[in-house]
Amino acid sequence: MESILKEFKKYFDLREVVSKQVYQRYGEQAWSFFDPRLLAVVIWLRRGMGIPLVCNNWKNGGKLDERGFRANLDYTVASKTKKGELYCPAHGRGQGIDLSSGKADAKTIRQWIRQNISTCPYPIRLEDDKSAPTWVHIDVCNVTDKKLVEFSA
Ligand SMILES: [Zn+2]
Repeated sequence: MESILKEFKKYFDLREVVSKQVYQRYGEQAWSFFDPRLLAVVIWLRRGMGIPLVCNNWKNGGKLDERGFRANLDYTVASKTKKGELYCPAHGRGQGIDLSSGKADAKTIRQWIRQNISTCPYPIRLEDDKSAPTWVHIDVCNVTDKKLVEFSA
């Protein structure tokens, strides 16, 4: 975990991968919420494509704050709970992340992932082109014996 985290931090600040309230409540301890497999997959993608990847942007005044780890009081989770809906998202277990880039659109990033999946360090799932038009949802919640599964949310 130590060295994966060290590598991950070269590309992402903690505030980019957790919501503001999680950051304020837990600070650096929030790094422990992430599955090291997810961090390794994101490092693989970031290095392999060689382009900047964006998750949350609230620290720069942007609106994105739930594309990384989500806690029970973060809107997406809280609203499901309020409606009485069961919800066990990859984002709530530190196993999923939504990414985008100013250098390539979501479709292009997914295409790169498909083409290079044999070198991906862990089996992954991707939300498909139709379901995630402007972002790349990637998670390590793949329980099949395939390296890559694509799904529609
Ligand atoms: Zn997602």
